[in-house]
Amino acid sequence: MKSKSVSFIPYGRQQVDTDDIQAVVDVLKSDWLTCGPKVAEFEDAVACFSGVQYGIAVSSGTAALHCAMSALGVGPGDEVIVPCMTFAATANAVVYVGATPVFVDVEVDTLLIDVCKIEALITPKTKAIIAVDYAGQPCDYDALRELAGKYDLALVADSCHALGATYKGQSVASLVDLAIFSFHPVKHITTGEGGMVVTRNKEMAFHMRRFRSHGIDADHLKRQQEGTWYYEMVELGFNYRISDIQCALGISQLRKLPRWLERRRAIACMYNDFLQGVEGVQSLKVRMEVGHAYHLYPVQLSSSLSREKVFRAMREAGIGVNVHYLPVHLHPFYRQRFATAQGLCPVAEKAYENLLSLPMYQGLTDVDVQRVIHVLLEVLN
Ligand SMILES: *Cc1c(COP(=O)(O)O)cnc(C)c1O
Repeated sequence: MKSKSVSFIPYGRQQVDTDDIQAVVDVLKSDWLTCGPKVAEFEDAVACFSGVQYGIAVSSGTAALHCAMSALGVGPGDEVIVPCMTFAATANAVVYVGATPVFVDVEVDTLLIDVCKIEALITPKTKAIIAVDYAGQPCDYDALRELAGKYDLALVADSCHALGATYKGQSVASLVDLAIFSFHPVKHITTGEGGMVVTRNKEMAFHMRRFRSHGIDADHLKRQQEGTWYYEMVELGFNYRISDIQCALGISQLRKLPRWLERRRAIACMYNDFLQGVEGVQSLKVRMEVGHAYHLYPVQLSSSLSREKVFRAMREAGIGVNVHYLPVHLHPFYRQRFATAQGLCPVAEKAYENLLSLPMYQGLTDVDVQRVIHVLLEVLN
């Protein structure tokens, strides 16, 4: 008999149910595969869920970040403050528009942007701060808003980890100029590939709608309805559109998000409770004032343990642990292009050496969680 215990538990995984599949099939049988009504419906649903008016759905979270930089008018010669503990895409979007990412270190216990270290990095060229809600925990938005206000900087939330997270009871999107989500399959809800910018700002929303479609000044649905052929391209945009097929999946997935967030929080509780009694492994600190969305569950191993050994032993036992992230300024591209080096962000660099992400997704069963814990204990001994 095949033992079920040999099955592999990944670090993250999508959940696609029968009703999700049906929603996609319905669109495939309809008139609109792209540029149709499901895009606007998905945008409205995510914006409403985030407590703001406008959503601009695009082909990826990375495209959404690029749209955001364009909407803010960030360009050559400008600087944007970015935490180094993030996925490379956060900084890449700054480079796409010809600006320079200025890397800031993170707090030792949360790995969130260290707001105290930002002020020293602000220059007359600084245009914006991109805060990253690492692992699903919102940053210190009171402090960030104060700083952004003082220096007249735009505040962007890369909330790709944090759909559904709250700060002092409010959605992150309602506290910033622009908030970014990703719908990649490892994130909270998926459209296969996809992303969105949500905002209260009508002008920027208008700009981003145009930017995602070649910089052309008309929308396809309206054009077809009104029966006019004329359009103008008024600026250089991209084809960052998302299809109705994908948005139908997103709409269906979003309905389950509250339930899935609850499950992620319950899994985090199990890990927290267990790890409290384990020597050499520490969970990240969660601030009192936040509702954590738990995209990831990273832990810090004590420096006496070899992360490499723990990583390999757990992988061999079928537990898909991972590492989030190599600090962005240490990637060869950034070292070469911006002359960044070891020592720029010492807290993140040290944390990275001992970081390990345990599996975290809504489909993990209690038995799966116990197996992760059991294997971790065995490996530590
Ligand atoms: C996933 C992610 C992105 C990019 O999203 P894609 O949809 O994969 O392009 C950007 N920033 C962070 C922090 C992410 O986790």
